[in-house]
Amino acid sequence: MGLYYDSLMDDRDYALPYNCDQQYIDKYDKIMESNLSILKLWVSIAGESIDIKPRANNIFYSDCIFHAADDLPVCINENKKLFFCYGCHKGGSLVLLVSKCFNISAFSAIDILFSIVKKDLGDLSKRQLKIAKRILKKYNSPIVENYFKISNEKTNYINKRIESYILKKGDLQDELARKKMCKRLCIKYQPPKININIYIDDDLPLA
Ligand SMILES: [Zn+2]
Repeated sequence: MGLYYDSLMDDRDYALPYNCDQQYIDKYDKIMESNLSILKLWVSIAGESIDIKPRANNIFYSDCIFHAADDLPVCINENKKLFFCYGCHKGGSLVLLVSKCFNISAFSAIDILFSIVKKDLGDLSKRQLKIAKRILKKYNSPIVENYFKISNEKTNYINKRIESYILKKGDLQDELARKKMCKRLCIKYQPPKININIYIDDDLPLA
């Protein structure tokens, strides 16, 4: 089973109707380009006690906030700001997360998140303001910083394994060796010199 969530590259079309106002498309894009974190948003909504397992490359597995399950069915992809539950098939971006969690329209969710991005909650309605404050209350949890740290350590560990394998082969430019190592580690091969995108199916022990 593919444990990483790659299929939904851009969920703007899912969140917004075709003929919607251009200002919402612009706001949506600004939200997705901003430094708002989907993991921080997820934890702030779900509560800090939610079970989360960090993987390499800022991929996180979590309990679902929409249905009861004990096998961490939700994949949260921080790089793409997307979540997806393999149990109940709910998924989407920051916008769809807020819209689904608080049972509000995607437009309203966009208004809330855009206000958070521009740090001005002045234009929000009373209900939107309540939701924005609820989100912001636990948004900067130190627990989430720790999840990012663990993910980063796993990424470094895997990168080191790849590099040491290639060094042993005696040729840093040996693309075949790199490809072979990526295959062994079940990660996606990317050409050298750029940060390797890592998706692992099984947890690897830390060095
Ligand atoms: Zn679910």
